[in-house]
Amino acid sequence: MAASGEPCRPGRGEAAAVVVVGSCMTDLVSLAHRLPKTGETIHGHKFFIGFGGKGANQCVQAARLGAKTSLVCKIPHDLLKCFLLLNIKKLTAQEGHVGVKGSDWSDPEALLSIQVEGMAQVGKDSFGNNYIENLKQNDISTEFAYQTKDAATGTASIIVNNEVKTLFNPAPAIADLDPQFYTLSDVFCCNESEAEILTGLTVGSPADAGKAALMLMGRGCQVVIVTLGAGGCVMLSQTEPTPKHIPTETVKAVDTTGAGDSFVGALAFYLAYYPHLSLEEMLKRSNFIAAVSVQAAGTQSSYPYRKDLPIHLF
Ligand code: ATP
Repeated sequence: MAASGEPCRPGRGEAAAVVVVGSCMTDLVSLAHRLPKTGETIHGHKFFIGFGGKGANQCVQAARLGAKTSLVCKIPHDLLKCFLLLNIKKLTAQEGHVGVKGSDWSDPEALLSIQVEGMAQVGKDSFGNNYIENLKQNDISTEFAYQTKDAATGTASIIVNNEVKTLFNPAPAIADLDPQFYTLSDVFCCNESEAEILTGLTVGSPADAGKAALMLMGRGCQVVIVTLGAGGCVMLSQTEPTPKHIPTETVKAVDTTGAGDSFVGALAFYLAYYPHLSLEEMLKRSNFIAAVSVQAAGTQSSYPYRKDLPIHLF
């Protein structure tokens, strides 16, 4: 933190406290009175372009709360496991080549230096240019947000340690998720439908979410959180193995798109900057921030800035 109490912004080569590995998407949104049938053309009455993508959304919310953030996109699946295994302390740019040094995932020593292939995040086109600009405007480090013309390779060297916790959001969920994603996550956070896909259980209430969370914890998670929309969330941890429901504010929801990413971004912020808080307190505050986001239209456009939030959240 700087002397003023405001977090420092990430500079080149400076470590980010919240590193999000995930996607950037340009949302092309058409409003129409109904969905077209297959092959049909209908009139729409409004069109707008927005910034989306689950990884970028979460990163934007954490950045708007004051976190030093960096976004890494389009990462190979096996390298993602490595992120989960080792956690990230610092990312520094490096000219160079591609591939993964030390492909034995069970040997952390062999993975202390990693080079990444194919991390081209967005194209060299107007959407890509705009997206990079959007990340910059949100004070997110774009050091690893590469643009590509024809699969030009971006390269990163990763220095790791065990201080930054790994928060894993399994979206979009797949039923046969690699078991290592459970065991390597410090915090495993999913929504109701993801919990259903992952467990095969029906999740429609806090009690159901608790049962699903217990099953997920049985697969090796340290902490499981299941978000429940207007119902808040349910938490469970190895140290507090009884599911606990954390309700949220009753608000007039305008647009809940991206609420889950607002929640996860806020939680990442609290894990990085307020690690002394209890998990329950982090979740109450994340609930509050996500509840603010549902009261405005759009995804990132609805995410609150720190200056607009009550002081007791910080
Ligand atoms: P999305 O896919 O739209 O990003 P999600 O399905 O991943 O959302 P939800 O469980 O719907 O995630 O919502 C995440 C969090 O957002 C909730 O835990 C809650 O804190 C907040 N939230 C969502 N909807 C509402 C609402 N109607 N009122 C208050 N808070 C809400």
